[in-house]
Amino acid sequence: MQIIRIPVLSDNYIFLLWDSARKIAAVVDPAVARPVLTKLNELDAQLVAIFNTHHHNDHVGGNRELITQYPNVTVYGGEEDKGRIPGQKVFLHEGDIIEFGDRTATVFFVPGHTRAHIAYYFPPRASEETGELFCGDTLFAGGCGRLFEGTPAQMVDSLSKIRTLPDNTRVWCAHEYTLKNLQFALSVDGNNEDLQQRYTKVQAARNKGEATVPSLLEIEKRTNPFLRWDIPTLQTAVKTSESVQTFARLRGMKDTF
Ligand SMILES: [Zn+2]
Repeated sequence: MQIIRIPVLSDNYIFLLWDSARKIAAVVDPAVARPVLTKLNELDAQLVAIFNTHHHNDHVGGNRELITQYPNVTVYGGEEDKGRIPGQKVFLHEGDIIEFGDRTATVFFVPGHTRAHIAYYFPPRASEETGELFCGDTLFAGGCGRLFEGTPAQMVDSLSKIRTLPDNTRVWCAHEYTLKNLQFALSVDGNNEDLQQRYTKVQAARNKGEATVPSLLEIEKRTNPFLRWDIPTLQTAVKTSESVQTFARLRGMKDTF
């Protein structure tokens, strides 16, 4: 399975999963259809699945047109999103297994950004391979999604599930927000040397117009404040020793950063 990143709108990423042997493809969160259709033509691939993480239009906006072009495509989304994702046929729960070609993914229920958000995790099949996590707007490189429909406690619970995945998991989040996220991270965790190094690298990449997605979960665990609610430095920075409160205060500060 190859993963092709398609940048669209101002800062969204669509991910195309391509199985070249079977000439099939799946798409994660098609904000728009046109660039996906162009890529499918280029690859001579049949679209068999749309994997949606949540109902926001910049994640499902291309569903209808893709279904028109590929009437047999199966649209996946969370059970709680029933009625909000165009063309949804499969309603997923925590722990469900989905298939694409010769790969399988586990579904995580990760409410917080929305009440119905899910993530798809493809585990590595060999020790040298990476795992692939498609987490929509839950975890970002250096940050996390805003809480539109969920509580800080829910989001901590959701991010805890992600945090337990192996270090060698690539994080395919849906937006290029990394530089701004790391600027906020530095404002609360400025002495973190891993974070300082990461910021320098990301800044150089963005100056060259390069993407910073996917990132690696190992780096997120060391530098992303929204996975570090139980680290004393961050708790001190927001003047509490309680984890959910730490997360809530960090999220509140980021909302107005
Ligand atoms: Zn969203």
